[in-house]
Amino acid sequence: MPKVYFIDVTNRDGVQTARLGLSKLEKTMINIYLNEMGVFQSEFGFPTTRHESNYLQANLELADMGVLQPIRLQGWIRATVTDVETAFSLVPKIRHLNLSISTSDQMINGKFLGRKTRDDIVKMMVDAVEAARAHGAESIGVNAEDASRTDMDFLVKFAMAAKEHGAQRFRYCDTLGYDSPFTIYAAIKVLAENVGIPIETHCHGDLGMAVANSVAGAKGAIDGGQDVYINTTINGIGERAGNADLVATILAVTKSKGFAEKYQLGNPIDLTQAWKIARFASYAFKVPICINHPGVGANAFAHSSGIHADGVLKDPHNYELYSFNEVGRGEPETVETGREICSGEYSGISGFRHIMGKMAGETAVPFKNAKEAEEILELVRYANVEAQKPLVEDELLFIAKYPQIAKKLLTLKPPE
Ligand SMILES: [Zn+2]
Repeated sequence: MPKVYFIDVTNRDGVQTARLGLSKLEKTMINIYLNEMGVFQSEFGFPTTRHESNYLQANLELADMGVLQPIRLQGWIRATVTDVETAFSLVPKIRHLNLSISTSDQMINGKFLGRKTRDDIVKMMVDAVEAARAHGAESIGVNAEDASRTDMDFLVKFAMAAKEHGAQRFRYCDTLGYDSPFTIYAAIKVLAENVGIPIETHCHGDLGMAVANSVAGAKGAIDGGQDVYINTTINGIGERAGNADLVATILAVTKSKGFAEKYQLGNPIDLTQAWKIARFASYAFKVPICINHPGVGANAFAHSSGIHADGVLKDPHNYELYSFNEVGRGEPETVETGREICSGEYSGISGFRHIMGKMAGETAVPFKNAKEAEEILELVRYANVEAQKPLVEDELLFIAKYPQIAKKLLTLKPPE
C-alpha cells in the first residue's frame, strides 16, 4: 500500500508571502523543528537567490554533521536550464531540487504572452531536468504550476515527460486554491494511474479548502497506486490565503473518520512537537495563531458552555476528538511578568551572561572563557539585527552550540 509523507514549504512559500519573512536563523530553526517532528522534507529555500546562499550552505553542512538528519533539504527553482546552472554554481552541494513551471493555458498565454506553446513548456522542463541530473541532483521533483486549471491530457503528457527524463516526483499545484476535494481527488487519481509517479499535493486556501483538498488529493494518489507527499506550511502561512496547515493536515490524515485506518504515514510523525513549532512560527512571523486553530489555537481545548463543560469533565471523549497532550500541550509555561533582560543588537556582556545563565540546566552551553562568551555575544547581536526581536532560547543555544554555522547564516554580503 502506498504511503503518505509530508513536505513542508514554510521556508519557501511561507517566506515569499507578502508582508511576511523570516531571518536565516529562524529558517534554520524551522528546519530543525521539522526534522524533530519527522517531516520527510523541508523546501528550505531559493538556491538562485544570492542572499540565501550562505544560509542554504550552512544548513547543508548541518545535514552533513548529522544535525539535520534524516530530513531532506530541497531547493526550489524555476524549471529552466539557467536556474539549474545558477543553483549549482551558488550552492554546489545542493542535491534535491523542485523545478517549477506553469502548465495552464491561462498562465502559458497570460505570462509568456504568446511567446511559448505547450510543447515549449515541456521542452523547458525536460531540459531543466536533464541539466539538474547532469549536475548530480539526487532527487528531482517537477512542479506543474496552476495544475488545477491545466488541461488534463496535457498534464498527463507533461508529467509523463518529467518521469521519462528522470524526475522522481510530480507536484500537482492548486496554485489558486481552485480545486474542491472532489475535483482534486479525480485529477490526482488519473495522474497516479496514468503516469505512475509519486505525487505531491500543493494546495492553497483561497476557497478555504487547502487541508480538505490535500487529504482528498492524498487519497487520489494512493487509490491510484502511488505514494503521496503533502505540501504544508506551519500555521498555514503562505501566498494570499495561505497553504495547507502542517498541524491541521497531520491531524486530518491521522485522525479523520476512515482515513487513518486505511492510509498510513511513510514515516512516523511526532505530533507532540506541534505546539512548539506552531508557537515558534507565530513568534518568528509575528502572526498570532488563530483562537480556533486546529490543535494549537487557544480555544482548541477550551470549554465554557454548561453542556460541553459537564460532558468533557465526565469524559473528555465526549467533546474532544484528541487529547491536548497529543499536540504537545499541557506543560506549564513561565511568562515573565517582572523585570526582563532580553537579547538585542546592542546587548552587552553582562546582560548576555544573565540571559544565558537563566537557562541553566541540562540545555545550557557553558562558556569556556570570557573570550568565547564575547564571541557568541557578537553573533547574537548580528542575529538580532536580522530578527529585530529578542531571540528565543533555542536560537541562543543554537548560536552557542554551532558558532561557525551561525556565523555563516548571518553573513549577508551583496555581490560586488
Ligand atoms: Zn504555493
